[in-house]
Amino acid sequence: MSEQAYQQLMARVRDASVVQSISWLLSWDQETMMPAAGAPHRGKQLALLAGLVHERLTAAATAELLQQVETSAWLKDAPAHARTNVAETRRVHDRLVRLPRALVEETARTIPVSQHAWAEARRANDFASFKPHLEKMVALKRDEARAIAVGGDLYDALMDEFEPGARIAEVAPFLDALVDGLVPLVRAIGAKGNPALPWAGRRFPIERQRVLCGALPTELGLRPDGSRLDVSAHPFCQRIGHGDVRITTRFDEADPRGAYFGVMHEAGHALYEQGLDPAHDGTPVGEARSIAVHESQSRLWENLVGRGLPWWRHHYPLVRALFPEALHDVELDAFHRAINRVAPSLIRVEADEVTYNLHIAVRVRLERALIDGSLSVEALPGAWNDEYRRALGLTPPDDANGCLQDVHWSCGAFGYFATYALGNVYAAQLMEAARAALPMLDEAVARGDQAPLVAWLVDKVHRRGSIGRGARIIEDATGRPPDAAAFLRYIKQKYAPLYGV
Ligand code: ZN
Repeated sequence: MSEQAYQQLMARVRDASVVQSISWLLSWDQETMMPAAGAPHRGKQLALLAGLVHERLTAAATAELLQQVETSAWLKDAPAHARTNVAETRRVHDRLVRLPRALVEETARTIPVSQHAWAEARRANDFASFKPHLEKMVALKRDEARAIAVGGDLYDALMDEFEPGARIAEVAPFLDALVDGLVPLVRAIGAKGNPALPWAGRRFPIERQRVLCGALPTELGLRPDGSRLDVSAHPFCQRIGHGDVRITTRFDEADPRGAYFGVMHEAGHALYEQGLDPAHDGTPVGEARSIAVHESQSRLWENLVGRGLPWWRHHYPLVRALFPEALHDVELDAFHRAINRVAPSLIRVEADEVTYNLHIAVRVRLERALIDGSLSVEALPGAWNDEYRRALGLTPPDDANGCLQDVHWSCGAFGYFATYALGNVYAAQLMEAARAALPMLDEAVARGDQAPLVAWLVDKVHRRGSIGRGARIIEDATGRPPDAAAFLRYIKQKYAPLYGV
């Protein structure tokens, strides 16, 4: 009887997932194909679909089935995937029903206005014009957190949307350890400086960059009949459903690094989506666990593999042959060093892998303080600049290069930033474990054979779906709970010889 209720519950969850996937397809189209004037109608389509998903998951019938299954004797001895599916359905259901409808609607109305005000304020370098919008957004998110947290930590309640089960009490020591380990190294590297880019002023024809980047997804193991690569202003990866995962990139004729590493990054996300267990398609167990675990997969391919010497032993001759005018006098060592330049900077999205986590640590400290009320929006620009001096040794010349640079807060994504740093740390820990399990890994990568590493990741991470928290998946894959040590080891081993520090 209860198993029947479970099957009925999952049928509702699968239906909601199919409706959700229609909105993903529309979002992909919006970023890649849709003519600009279609935006208002696209907004209506997406709002209707969001409403349908909400209705499915919060309906009285869903709540009754959920309670029936949860209180049944059947569930105790049910397989792990069924127990996870029920727990995850409960988590999502509770988040949705705890939010008052008026708050959801007001937040939805406020986001486009606030995001527009942010874009204008950044363009005009005018924090004062954005301040009332950010104040309203912080107030709305605090209300949301109070509604969801039911007495618990407000910041945890917001983080839970992106990283289910994560606690700031566990994440904050991580970030502190990263800052403590990285700040002295960044100072030492900063003192050394960088030579000019060896290809500065040369051109990389976009048609040839397309050829180069177009071959990468298949080479990494994405099914050619199950994936595609397009161009968009902001690169992303979107799974539409089983057998259909799409990535995008953008090209710059003066510098192919953005397109190339962008494809490596998004292909890492896509491999994770492709590796999910099709037997659980449409249920939580058949979905990627969290943003941080997702980011661990993209960063692993982009940085730990893609910026490593073994990868370039195989790929540099190919790249050089495609761009002889730009690279004929650039040897492998100079190229490898150029794609691994480290320099303290003000802008997060342009940061290298060494300084990147410092940008994140700054944001997490500040957004926690905004949410717990110890920092006012008024005081944010000054606090931002203090944090940048402390972490990166730089003072932003203005707010456009400071607290106005990221879109996240303007659209209410508080609790998101930490997932970037967790992803980096998880990636390093996974790579260490993969090396131990696959002693010939570097040789395989240097031969152009990525299959052993892909298979290891599918087995240890992708097939897990949503079983266990993100931190638990990393612990099971690597044999120990996540911490910052593997990342700091990786960074020191790689950059000490590159910079002689
Ligand atoms: Zn990513």
